[in-house]
Amino acid sequence: MNLDKLIRNNIKTMQPYSSARDEFKDFEQKMIFLDANESPFENGVNRYPDPQQKSVKRLLADQKGVHANQILLGNGSDEVLDLLFRVFCEPNRDNVITLPPTYGMYGVLANLNAVENREVLLSADDFQPQTEVILKTIDTNTKMIFLCSPNNPTGNSFSKESIVTLIQYFNGLVVLDEAYIDFSENESWLAKLKEYPNLVITQTFSKAYGLAGIRMGILYASAEIISVLNKIKPPYNLNNLSQQKALEVLTENKTTDDRITLIKAEKKVLLKQLLEVKFIQKTYPSEANYILIKVDDAHKRYNQLLEKGIVVRNRSNQPLCKNCLRISIGTPEENQLLINALKTL
Ligand SMILES: *Cc1c(COP(=O)(O)O)cnc(C)c1O
Repeated sequence: MNLDKLIRNNIKTMQPYSSARDEFKDFEQKMIFLDANESPFENGVNRYPDPQQKSVKRLLADQKGVHANQILLGNGSDEVLDLLFRVFCEPNRDNVITLPPTYGMYGVLANLNAVENREVLLSADDFQPQTEVILKTIDTNTKMIFLCSPNNPTGNSFSKESIVTLIQYFNGLVVLDEAYIDFSENESWLAKLKEYPNLVITQTFSKAYGLAGIRMGILYASAEIISVLNKIKPPYNLNNLSQQKALEVLTENKTTDDRITLIKAEKKVLLKQLLEVKFIQKTYPSEANYILIKVDDAHKRYNQLLEKGIVVRNRSNQPLCKNCLRISIGTPEENQLLINALKTL
């Protein structure tokens, strides 16, 4: 892979915005800050946040075994994924490959950035990438392939072989979305970043960390890739309150781990109980914090659950997901209420 050839020309030549807090980077020293036209009156958030989120990155780097310069943080995964499109995909020329049924945001971001989205379905029998077909779909304008593992909404992880094949035979970026990796028995690919310069991994604070409300997404890649993404990210993309909350949760890992364990145990219980419901024809194995089920009539069952005050996700319109509902694992009480409701339908 030649990174220089992948980057859009306008990005290569542009001058990034230099914020006051970018020019004066020392956050630890006591200084009188008269450089950013802020209010001088302390209220906890009167100062602009650290544009490089150094404290959060330091903790993440330690815990995940990467360097801080291999991390980009964004306002949700949405933002870091959008930054990838803007750095690497020339509008109305380049294309990306996505593998439905999968997370809808990749396709939305492709459309938003005027980038062609080439869809190659997962295999119908086991929801794995069809690597041969994918490799044939690549052309000189293909910049990224999006892999979601564990995959949303199917819940399975992709095989190691197919991921390695795509990384090795593709000259663009393989973007591996690990939003649900903490619920999986499979290891994260973070340790492989050194080996594969065209691998980009995204994770999030929204799922296992329980912080969907602070909007914080994480992108891990080579220091070279991170430095181009940094060049175009909005300077103060993560506010102070979000950074503080992330720090708090990262220093309290036991709580997070306990909750992951509980969710996994509840998933097992739920999978068993779901099979006792007559109109559920199939439950799919899940490495995430949700379960995909196939029912007799997804539209009807979705509405019946709504009437009982339970909202699930109808995935019936996704390819290979006819009559499928996706159900997030809730608290033990919520899960019991779900089962009770299903059994009365
Ligand atoms: C939930 C989810 C995310 C997280 O998105 P955020 O913007 O970080 O909340 C990312 N990828 C997938 C596949 C998801 O399901």
